[in-house]
Amino acid sequence: MQYAIPPAAVNTLEIAGQDAAFPVNRIFCVGRNYAAHAIEMGKDPTRDAPFFFMKPANAAVRASADAITIAYPPKTANYHHEIELVVAIGKGGSNISVEQALEHVYGYAVGLDMTRRDLQLDARDKGRPWEFGKSFSQSAPIGPLHTVSAIGHLENAAITLTVNGAPRQSSDINKLIWSVAESISYLSQYETLEPGDVIMTGTPEGVNAVVAGDEMRGAIAGLGEIVVRVGKGKDHE
Ligand code: MN
Repeated sequence: MQYAIPPAAVNTLEIAGQDAAFPVNRIFCVGRNYAAHAIEMGKDPTRDAPFFFMKPANAAVRASADAITIAYPPKTANYHHEIELVVAIGKGGSNISVEQALEHVYGYAVGLDMTRRDLQLDARDKGRPWEFGKSFSQSAPIGPLHTVSAIGHLENAAITLTVNGAPRQSSDINKLIWSVAESISYLSQYETLEPGDVIMTGTPEGVNAVVAGDEMRGAIAGLGEIVVRVGKGKDHE
C-alpha cells in the first residue's frame, strides 16, 4: 500500500513480562459505573443500561510505576482524575453472552480517564457530545497489561488513587454496577468488538481536580500501580 500522506502510528500498551506490545484499536469508556460516583455527579445510581463514550486510540499513554508526565490540557480550569480498571480485548465478536464474555479478555491494567470536567459538564448540560471533555491527547494514561494467562480474572480488588500522597479515590472493583463481563456483552450488541479494543470500566467516587506539579499514584490490587505527574500545558507556558 502506498499512502498519500504518512499514516498515523499504531499506538500500543506495554504488556507485563513480554517484549510484544498490545496495539490499541478503539477505547470505549463506561459512564457512571459505580453508584457513589453517580451520586457525586448528581445522578441517580439506578441500574439503568450502561452507556459508553469513546476516546481515540492515540489518547492512550503508556504509564508505569516509573513516573511519566502528561501535559495539562488546554481550555480547562477543572482537570479531573478518574482511576479505572482497564480491560483489553484479545478476541473480537458481537452479541457476546455474559457467560462467554471473559473469554474475549486479553488482559487488565490500571488506567486514568483524565477529564476536562468543566467542558464535559457544559456539554452534558447543553445536550452536546462529551468529546471535548473526554477525548483529547494524553487523556488515557494506562499501565502495563497483565494477561489473563498470567493472572486470571479479577473479582475483588482494591482500586485507589492518591494525589501528592493524599487519598482521593478508594473503592473495590466488586462495586462496579455493570461487571466486566456484562459491559463486554452489552457493548458487543451495539458494536462488533475487535482485537485491540480497550474498555475503561468507569471510576469510583472521589474524582477531583489536579493542577500542574501534582503527582497521581493509581493502583489496583494485582495490577500494580501507575505514577502520573501533571506538567505545564500550552495555556500555562
Ligand atoms: Mn471515566
